Formats: sequence, C-alpha cells, structure tokens
Amino acid sequence: MNFDDFDISDEVKKAIDEMGFEKTTPIQEMAIPLGLKGRDITAQAQTGSGKTIAFAVPVLEKIFIPDRSPQAIVLCPTRELCLQVAGEIAKVGKYIKKLKVLAVYGGQPIGKQTRVLKKGVHIVVGTPGRVIDHIQRGNLDLIGVESVILDEADEMLDMGFRDDIQTILKNTPLQRQTMLFSATMPTEIRKIAKNYQNNPKFIKVANKKENIPKITQHAFRTNHKYKFKDLTKLIEAYDIKSSLIFCNTKKGVDFVFKHLKKEGYSSEALHGDMSQKTRDRVMNKFRNGNVRFLVATDVAARGLDISNLDFIVNYDVAQNYDSHIHRIGRTARAGSSGFALTLVSKEDSANFNVIKRQSKGKIVEKDIPSDSELEEIKINRILDEVKNSIKVDNLKNDMDFIKKSLSADITSEEIAAALLKKLREK
Ligand code: AMP
Repeated sequence: MNFDDFDISDEVKKAIDEMGFEKTTPIQEMAIPLGLKGRDITAQAQTGSGKTIAFAVPVLEKIFIPDRSPQAIVLCPTRELCLQVAGEIAKVGKYIKKLKVLAVYGGQPIGKQTRVLKKGVHIVVGTPGRVIDHIQRGNLDLIGVESVILDEADEMLDMGFRDDIQTILKNTPLQRQTMLFSATMPTEIRKIAKNYQNNPKFIKVANKKENIPKITQHAFRTNHKYKFKDLTKLIEAYDIKSSLIFCNTKKGVDFVFKHLKKEGYSSEALHGDMSQKTRDRVMNKFRNGNVRFLVATDVAARGLDISNLDFIVNYDVAQNYDSHIHRIGRTARAGSSGFALTLVSKEDSANFNVIKRQSKGKIVEKDIPSDSELEEIKINRILDEVKNSIKVDNLKNDMDFIKKSLSADITSEEIAAALLKKLREK
C-alpha cells in the first residue's frame, strides 16, 4: 500500500513523501486505518517496523491546533527513544502549522521542560517517571488528552515503570484512544491492555525472527588475548566504514573504545552512567557520520534508532537470545540488509551456544582471516575498484601519461604493481 491510499491530510502526506517513504510497512498498513477510526490498538511490533509513523499519523490527524493543551501523550522507556519519537512525529507534522511536540525525560533540567510546557504543547513524548514528575508539579494536565500511546511497553515494564504507567493512564480521560506497542506480549502487557484499553484490536506483524533473514550473521572463535586484534582484523576484512559495537560491561566498552582510538579508528563510547548531554553529543556525532564506531552496552543502546547501519559487531556475545536479536535488529532496518559479526571467546561460549541454537542455522561460523588472507582481501578490494574504474571511467589522458613513462626498463605491469603497493600503504 501507499500512503496515498489513506484518508489523511495533504500536510501529513507531503511530509511523509519528503521523508522518502512511498510504500507502507505492514504495521502501518494495519494500524493507520484503525487508528484513524479511533480504535484502541494492541500491536506486537518491534523497533524498525515503522511503528512510530503508524501511531503518529492517527495522532496528528486528530490534533486541534488552536487548543494548546496536550492532546496526545506518548510514553517511551528511554530518553533516546523519546527524542527519536518526538523527532519523527515532528517530521511527519512538519507542515501542520504551529504544531508543538515536546520530549520530556529525566536527566535534562526540569525547568526548561516546564517553561515549554507552560507555553503550550500539543503532543508530549516522555519517560513515565518524568511525566509523573510534571503532573505532580502541576506542569502537565492530561485532562484534554485524546490519544495515549505506550511505546515499547514491554521495555517500560522491564524497567519498572508499571505503576507510573498506570498512574498516568488514570490521569487521562476514559474516552481516550489508547494504542499500545510492544515487541513481546507477556501476560503483564495483556493485563494492561485488558484493564486500560477499550475493546482493542490486536495486530501482529512479522516477529523478530521472521525479520532476520536480511541480516547476514557471521561468528568468529577467538580468545580473550587476541579479541581486540581480531576486531580490527574484521574491521579491515569487511571494510567496515561504521558500526555499533556491543560489549557486555562498561569496562569492556571503555577498553574497546580506548584501544580503537589508539589504533587510529575514530570512536566514541556510550554507557548508562554518562550525562544526558554527553550522550546526546555522542549520538549526534555518530548519526552525522563524524565518528565511525560507537561502542556501547545494551542498556545504553536501548531504543536507539540509528538507521543506515550496515554492520553490528558483538565484541562480547549477548547474554541471551532476546538481547542478541535486539542488538542485531539495529542493522537491516525497514527493508535494507546488513551484517552482524560476533566474536566468541571462551568466556562467551555458553551464551553463544544458546544463541546459536535458537538462531536455527542463521549464524555461520567463520575463521578470522590470517595476516596473509587479510592482505589478499585488501588487494582484491583495490583490484576490484580498479577493474570497475576501467569499465566506467574515461582513462584516456591517464593512459597517455603511462605510455609516456614507459621505457625499455619499466613495464606497465611494474607501474601497476608499484601503484598497488602505494594504495595498500595508504
Ligand atoms: P520505527 O519502527 O518507528 O522505529 O521505524 C524504523 C525506521 O524505519 C525509522 O528510521 C523510520 O523512519 C523508517 N520508516 C518508517 N516508515 C517507513 C516506510 N514506510 N518505509 C521505509 N522506512 C520507514
């Protein structure tokens, strides 16, 4: 389906068109028409499915701009997700004049958020703790709220937000529309749906496992001592321009990040106890392509939407299958393809065996290339580029130069070999 097939305003259509999306994703195809009708929805969908636009469209279509009190509230588990969701809603609402969307989350001074809230906003995207804080301070009145969205509901419950969510829901009018999105549907989530939703329509889109085939997964046995060296070999062998690198501990993150820097690879670290300001700065640097490698723990990377990632590297094997899937889901977003590379040392073996079994043959074990194989890979890569250039570039002038340089004791093969050497040394 196309977005044109929905009965939505020209403003929203134009914005989505500019975002470059023509075809809808399955969750959008199912949720948007129901959402536009005002139905409650319980959707099983993960990050990367396009769920944000699936709820943003019905929410935006309902906003009454002259009323500058909150009409929609989106609850998300993390600050990063709040920023990302608020950003995406603002993009879709770009052509709705005077629309105000605000992200509120812990870690940022509350005063600034309060000032914006007092001026009036239409849509609030927040972490449950901070939203409660604003309600209690009298900064946020949910009396006029028509839509409530629980995004990544299972993550929010995992993080201990159950009571906060219930309190917030109780502060909103009964006749609201409630849309719940969750990657998994444990009993706890079903309970919330039952208690706080009105005859919700249940939607399920291809689950995580079915989404995986686009991701090529390779794993490499290594040992603790050579792990870092092997990481750099993989970076070179796969010609990784940019990647998210996962470690299981903060210590691991610091180690990998520092050593990458030392080896001349631009990199940054992201872990839970960094200040919000630093995290935002680091994220922006990575998103803008100003830094090649972002080394992170699972917690720090939760909910992050970094698109266009071709590679995910597991420096440490994830603790369990769910977290592995979550990690590798950062690549191959919305239809593209990607690589997930996993380093497996003895310490990782137990976790790896479980994950490998549950991945049902999708992880292929390979050997770390030897130094000579790595050399060969690099040479072949250069030669491929050269062959391509011969095919597509106009080389007449360059050939004339070469011809002029040829003499009895220099052959064209020698010139090519010397150039190759120079390129390899670069
Ligand atoms: P989400 O599941 O909302 O986190 O979205 C995942 C990513 O897919 C985001 O970067 C969206 O901008 C992108 N996206 C959303 N809808 C579409 C679509 N219809 N076609 C292609 N990409 C999309």
